[in-house]
Amino acid sequence: MSHNTSTLERLAVPPPPSIRVPVAGSDVMFPVRRIYCVGRNYAAHIREMNGNERDPPFFFQKPTDAIVLSGTTIPYPFATGDLQYEIELVLAVGSGGTNIRIDDAHRHVFGLAVGIDLTRRDLQTKARDSGRPWESGKSFDRSAPISPIHPLSGTVLPHSAAISLAVNGQLKQQGNIAEMIWKCDEIVNQLSTLYRLEPGDLIYTGTPAGVGAIVAGDTVEGRVEGVDTVTIKIA
Ligand code: MN
Repeated sequence: MSHNTSTLERLAVPPPPSIRVPVAGSDVMFPVRRIYCVGRNYAAHIREMNGNERDPPFFFQKPTDAIVLSGTTIPYPFATGDLQYEIELVLAVGSGGTNIRIDDAHRHVFGLAVGIDLTRRDLQTKARDSGRPWESGKSFDRSAPISPIHPLSGTVLPHSAAISLAVNGQLKQQGNIAEMIWKCDEIVNQLSTLYRLEPGDLIYTGTPAGVGAIVAGDTVEGRVEGVDTVTIKIA
């Protein structure tokens, strides 16, 4: 095998699309590398899911095909009869590292966004109850709507901000990121002990209580105070 850079590389199949999220207030785009999510990071949500609050939060991934920009209408996903919303603060990683210290975490975060962790709850529950991974319930196309990314201002990650979600204008989730079990800096620290973080990684930080089902025709709007809103419609 030789790699000749002077000839045009030929691809066996069409290349995957490059997934990008706009950076707010500019024409700069944020290229998405990986999507990590924190499971069970708010005690009230653990209780509503009949989980054990004493179990620590943990991580799972979604494919980059999960990214949906705010304002998009998405088709009701297949293989489920129980699509649910989860409003979440999202951290956008700007510089990589392993074993990132809690007090260094902010240096690795490029910006913040508002995301929805769409979940095929019936598949997730079935997987959980049979001791299997959450993959089918969580990691599917168009399951990670996201707002534009807002560059971090200052040197601290947010510790307190109202977080909420409404369906068709009716408030369903209402909490504060101060209720997170793992705070933003602790999430960066914990995740970087398991994987090397890389620029372009997104981290969905978990959802407060009040999750529920949505159906075709619903409009979902989520918000994190001081960050942005994310809106999607289900077709
Ligand atoms: Mn979630």
